Amino acid sequence: MAAITRFSKPSVISHVRRCLYSSSAVAAESNQHAPSPFGDYTITRRNPSERNVQWVFLGSPGVGKGTYASRLSNLLGVPHIATGDLVREELASSGPIAKQLTEIVNQGKLVSDEIIIRLLSKRLKAGEAKGESGFILDGFPRTINQAEILKGVTDIDLVVNLRLPESVLIEKCLGRRICGQCGKNFNVASINVKGQNGCPGISMAPLLPPSSCMSKLVTRSDDTEEVVKERLRIYNDKSQPLEDYYRNQGKLMEFNLPGGIPESWPKLLEALNLDEFDERQSVAA
Ligand code: AMP
Repeated sequence: MAAITRFSKPSVISHVRRCLYSSSAVAAESNQHAPSPFGDYTITRRNPSERNVQWVFLGSPGVGKGTYASRLSNLLGVPHIATGDLVREELASSGPIAKQLTEIVNQGKLVSDEIIIRLLSKRLKAGEAKGESGFILDGFPRTINQAEILKGVTDIDLVVNLRLPESVLIEKCLGRRICGQCGKNFNVASINVKGQNGCPGISMAPLLPPSSCMSKLVTRSDDTEEVVKERLRIYNDKSQPLEDYYRNQGKLMEFNLPGGIPESWPKLLEALNLDEFDERQSVAA
């Protein structure tokens, strides 16, 4: 597991930088002459001491990568970049590849590496131009090939692997709702899975929207039972090998979600040694 030690100073960013500096610097050195598959969109490889955290969230569809990555991005002041969101923006734009993408996404299949890398590198470049530094990636990489491509252009400091039992994942995906106006995610599922075979039970209260969003809720077109099962199958086949890939690099942090946000968020902060930092932020707010 990637080692992150407890904070004693106010700046979480500088702490994380110090913790991660040596291994990432070595990686930067070994990769600096590699040609870039990001082509014209090559991102600038920065020394970790000059940038914010570069983290990846792994986990099956519906596990909550977006929820926790977005909360951490607010806490750490780094952008949360979800390739699924980039794909959906492209679909909504009705651009030249929108029709092709709609079919792929609605079947639960993966978009080609070429398209996904084009979307991601464009987003990273735009962020860099606005002065963004660091990122929390959600939904990328999804294959070993994507991970290798990413490694060729920048350094990943930490990979958080979120885990939930498969029966919970399906219920969560089917209960997911998005506000068509503000874009926030909610969940109408009330989950109560009994513990068995030594595994603890899991309860998750629904995450209901405020009344202003209630009449605008939409369901993602790929959150049907058939497509969710296909997405889970593809995740297990193509994305699960990434766990070993990052574990072997000493970058993987496994996190079994103990329940919904109220139970899981404090525990995740604790696992990342960010709990004291979060308390300071709350007091300062
Ligand atoms: P998500 O919101 O992460 O579940 O992504 C929604 C859909 O976008 C996926 O089912 C894929 O079709 C596509 N997608 C998102 N990220 C990737 C990726 N890294 N590689 C290939 N396809 C992706």
